[in-house]
Order: sequence, then C-alpha cells, then structure tokens
Amino acid sequence: MQDAQPLPFPGSPVVPQTFDDGKVIQFQCRPGISCWNACCSNIDISLTPYDILRLKHRFAISSGEFLRDYTVPYEMEQDSIAGVKLRPVADGTACRFMTPAGCSVYADRPTACRYYPVALLSLRRQDEYTDRSSYALVEEPHCLGHQEPRPISVADYRKEQGLEDYDDAARGWRQLILKKKSSGPSIGKPSKRSLELFFMVCYDLDRFSQFVASDGFSDIYDLPAEELKNILCDDLELMQFGFRFLRQVLFGEETIPLRREAAEQRRLRHMERQQRLATEAAARRAMEQDEMYEDPAE
Ligand code: SF4
Ligand code: SF4
Repeated sequence: MQDAQPLPFPGSPVVPQTFDDGKVIQFQCRPGISCWNACCSNIDISLTPYDILRLKHRFAISSGEFLRDYTVPYEMEQDSIAGVKLRPVADGTACRFMTPAGCSVYADRPTACRYYPVALLSLRRQDEYTDRSSYALVEEPHCLGHQEPRPISVADYRKEQGLEDYDDAARGWRQLILKKKSSGPSIGKPSKRSLELFFMVCYDLDRFSQFVASDGFSDIYDLPAEELKNILCDDLELMQFGFRFLRQVLFGEETIPLRREAAEQRRLRHMERQQRLATEAAARRAMEQDEMYEDPAE
C-alpha cells in the first residue's frame, strides 16, 4: 500500500489521502437506503469517450445526436483540450436518467457513477507513457453508504462496478490528457485544428468514422485494407485507433504510416493556399490605404 500523500483540494469532500487498490473501504449503496438517489440529484459528471460509446449504443442514436441532446462541453484547462459533461434536467441539477427506482441506464452508467465514492487519480511522469492509478475516498454528508457495515477492497469494488473494462477502454484517452498536461508548454499550444480533431475522435465517433472512410484520409495514411475495414465496422476498434491517430496529431509520434508523397503534396498545396491568402490580404490592405489617402478634391 502507498503511503498517505497530501492532496491539493482544501475544502473538497475528497479525503486527503491516496491509496492503491489494496485499500479496504467501508461502503455499500443499496435500494432502500434513506439517501437513495441523493447523489444523482446534483450532478457534475464528466464523460469518457467509452461512456459516450456505451450510451449512444444504448439509445441507438449517433454520437452527434447524443452530444446535442445529453451533454455540455467544457474546457479541461484554459485554451486546451475539451471534455464533455452529462447535461442535467432542463430546470435543475438532477440527472435526467434518474428515476424513483434508480438509474435508468444502470448497465451503461458512466465511469464517474461507477467509481463513486472512490476517486480515480491518474498520474504520469514526464518520461513515461503509461499512467499510474491511485485512488482517494469521497465523503459527502448526504451519502450514507459509508455507514453500511460492508468492508470491500478498492480492487473488488472496481470489479463489482465493472470498471476494469471501462478503464481499459478509456486508457488511451487518459494517457493523451496526461501527456498533454505533463508536457506543458514544451510541445507548444495545440493548433485549433488539432483541438477540433481531439473533440471529434474522442466524443463524436460517428463523425470520425466518416473522416477515416474518406478518400482524403486514405490519400494520406497508409493503412492495410483489412485493418481499415476492421476499424470501420467496430466502434471500440475505431476509438482505439482514434487515440493512436491523436498521438500523431498532438505529439508528432508516427503511429500510423504516411503515404509520404501524398502528404508532401498536401503540405505544398496547403502552403500555396496560405501564400495566396496572404497575398490577397496584402492587396486588400493596400487598396484600403489608397482609399484612405485619396485626394478629397478628386
Ligand atoms: S447516470 Fe445513473 S448513476 Fe449516473 S448520475 Fe445519472 S442516474 Fe445517477
Ligand atoms: S448511498 Fe451514496 S451512492 Fe448510494 S444512493 Fe445514497 S448517496 Fe447515492
């Protein structure tokens, strides 16, 4: 077990100690408990890409429809990558999936709901790609599950809540975020386009599928036909491929082979276009200057 470490969250309900998954906590949530649904009445739930995948499949809608109808975007850090949160009911703070009988999407409930009252803290050193998980306990006065006489290790709690699959599926996304945060200014500010791509890949998987299926994508990336077919017919494969693609976009790692010639031609076309736009802008500025200094007597 890890030593207790201080957490930088003064005043938060997170108990200021971190531990590994061998830690035994005392907790049980069960129908009939007097605080039933209290936690779902005031939500602040960030979604992972896998949460969105599961919920859009559950409702048999596209990722775009899910984003529009059930989420709000937010910025994880200023001027940086975006996240999405579950949108509460229109006139309040409650989760729209909450019913008197409990969660109406229980089998596909998001990662954050599964973890509660444990908080997952993913950490990554600058020289590592893999993250290390540690955990903390969230103790909020409204949650009476802490008074239930059931000891359970965090490892068993994760199993019980189906978190192993959820964490495996979202690991690539967490690693991208951790790498982005730990790289700081050394990799520079991500371009607007790379941030748009991050959003599309992570949260709007059906739009990413169209992007990967486009001729433009195949012109640049050299993917075997069989691999491309597998990626396009399985959302989970597509999502994992997307995380690989983003390592190339955000950090310049060559994770997908490029068709060098086509990529070079595209780069040259992009430069020509930029040059043409700059020339047109300069001509426009010159014309405005001429008009400004025209002889009023003429
Ligand atoms: S998704 Fe389910 S468990 Fe999560 S906040 Fe909503 S009702 Fe509660
Ligand atoms: S015990 Fe905690 S998690 Fe369970 S319903 Fe009550 S407030 Fe929610």
